[in-house]
Amino acid sequence: MRVVKKPRIADTGRGPLGRSVKGSNGPGPIGPGEAVGEAECKVCGMNQRPDVLPIVSSPIWSLLLACMLGLAVALTAFSKPASADAKLGAWIEGVWPDAEAAGVSRKTFDAAFKGFTPDLKLPDLDLPGRPSNDARGQAEFTRAPSEYLDRAYLIRLATTGKDLAAKHKATLEKIERELGVDRYSVLAIWGRETAFGHHKLPHDAINVVATQAYLGRRKDLFRIELIAALKMLESGVPRSLMRASWAGAMGLTQFMPSEYFKHAHDLDGDGKTDIWNSIPDALASAASQLKGKGWVAGQTWGYEVILTREADCGFEGPTQERPISEWAKLGLKRANGRPWTEAQLALSAYMMSPAGGYGPSFLVLENYKVIRRYNMSDLYAVFVGNLADRIAGGGDFVTPWGGTGPQKTSNIEEIQQRLMALGYDVEKIDGKVGSNTRKVIGLYERTNKLKVDCWPSDTVLDHIRKTAAR
Ligand code: CA
Repeated sequence: MRVVKKPRIADTGRGPLGRSVKGSNGPGPIGPGEAVGEAECKVCGMNQRPDVLPIVSSPIWSLLLACMLGLAVALTAFSKPASADAKLGAWIEGVWPDAEAAGVSRKTFDAAFKGFTPDLKLPDLDLPGRPSNDARGQAEFTRAPSEYLDRAYLIRLATTGKDLAAKHKATLEKIERELGVDRYSVLAIWGRETAFGHHKLPHDAINVVATQAYLGRRKDLFRIELIAALKMLESGVPRSLMRASWAGAMGLTQFMPSEYFKHAHDLDGDGKTDIWNSIPDALASAASQLKGKGWVAGQTWGYEVILTREADCGFEGPTQERPISEWAKLGLKRANGRPWTEAQLALSAYMMSPAGGYGPSFLVLENYKVIRRYNMSDLYAVFVGNLADRIAGGGDFVTPWGGTGPQKTSNIEEIQQRLMALGYDVEKIDGKVGSNTRKVIGLYERTNKLKVDCWPSDTVLDHIRKTAAR
């Protein structure tokens, strides 16, 4: 059996918990679901190999050996799943004390694990035999910002968002009054997470978080989610409602089980917290989560700016945060041409260019960091912030997103490794184009008098290789 592998492209707008649903980015969505296929290869080695016994010439010996081999294969076939089952059973029993301590009954616990089989097709699993990049849930390519922040898709979502803002006016006003999060940002989370409820969630939440807790790369984190998911069952949430993304996020605004207990909010006051079917509950829950993560009422997320020679993209990142008045002294202007107001100049912001020199740059504020805490990704936060602006009636990017294609993960890793070896302040070797990576590339380009674009291009990689060879 031959499995043709397609190159996998990471949805860089997906946070560490893979919250956004596959396909929630409109055209050409490539999400976590693409990471399947390798599991089929796990049985490839069991194919019959008639050529392994060339030294046996006697037909009788051949027959005997063939029988012995057949027996061995049969034994293997039976013993392997049995030991795997025993291991799984022991692991499930190991979860019980934590579940019991969290108030889960044995009846709920047993029902939850009845017939449980780990879903080996999920991404981010730590499975022996999978290529190392798959074990880390990492794709061969990193998705281009221009694709994630697809303008046509944002416009479509904003159009729907405006209609929904009118339709749910009373609910959204109540959320603003009670939770202090503006209606546009709440709608933008709903739009980004499930395209306003249009995306169907493909997985059973218990299966997903149990698989991740048993075989995932981040077992401890998902064990907490598993206990919380069991508590949800115990509290009376029907399992049939608990449909989830590959990482266990549920409902209209994609709640992780642990967040459900912290932030789920019964806004319609019917005594039930229904993040699946009640739009008021789901939106208030999202707002409550944003509030819990530090939302600053009455403030926006950030401003698109035009960079200068004095303040290029090498100034990117939270470590270089400063008052906007300081940025203004370095020449940063708003991209829309409006002057900074006194109130804006007093705010603290950091610079962020998701596509380096090939797209818009932003000065981002506290609420940007809050959106990132909802889903740890720059592209996600820009998407949500920009969609909120568009629903509010503005928001188009002044600087277009350039044609930076998908980036090869291995190239980004090599750049990170080589820059670290050259003494640059590289935070981690992860093959991803985050703030820190863009910044250090910018600093390298500045030092070496290259065009400062803060982007992991082949040109800069070649240059770094030559520098390293010297
Ligand atoms: Ca309710």
